[in-house]
Amino acid sequence: MSKPTIFKWTCPQCGKEELVMRPVVLDAAADPKSAAAVKDETYFRVRCSHCGTEGDFLMNLLYADRERGFLIALQPDEKLPFPPVPPGTWRALRVVRDAEDLADKVRALESPLDDRLAAVAEYLLYRKIRPALPAGSAMGMTVFHMGDAGPEVLLPMEIAGKGYAMGKDVLTAERLAELNETYGAALAADEDKGFRVIDRAWAKEFVDRCEK
Ligand SMILES: [Zn+2]
Repeated sequence: MSKPTIFKWTCPQCGKEELVMRPVVLDAAADPKSAAAVKDETYFRVRCSHCGTEGDFLMNLLYADRERGFLIALQPDEKLPFPPVPPGTWRALRVVRDAEDLADKVRALESPLDDRLAAVAEYLLYRKIRPALPAGSAMGMTVFHMGDAGPEVLLPMEIAGKGYAMGKDVLTAERLAELNETYGAALAADEDKGFRVIDRAWAKEFVDRCEK
């Protein structure tokens, strides 16, 4: 058992303090219930025992999936040091900043896809849609998930004057072959050295480099 972090949350409604205990290292295989809560973004929710108000908190956490060999450091505050890497064989070490990104990263690393290629697909969808949107529109964060027909990248948006819409790139075998053709060699050369943030900014830089 990993030693827990005790987090103090103060209810914004009534001021009651709740103590929330979470392990420093979340072992996905040993605690599948918590792993599922991370993926549906309820893991960091706390409910006031006095008035029932719900809120979210964030903390430094290591999400460890020993079976698939990945480790994700949730590090909301960049200044805080990482917890030490637990012993094991890790093929991917990633850093995320919030609960939404953590859920997305877990889904990507659980899938058969390279999470860096997933990040590239997310960025390409964003780049394709952004210039087509009229002024006053808003875009959400891209979401990676396993759909019925295979992995998909979704991009929720609010189109000015039209309302809610969902951009989508279904990563079929053909689409993946196309992405691998363009980015496979550069990905193979992109060596993992320690914890890295693989997000939209990373994907933009990577794609820009490939297009030069
Ligand atoms: Zn309360």
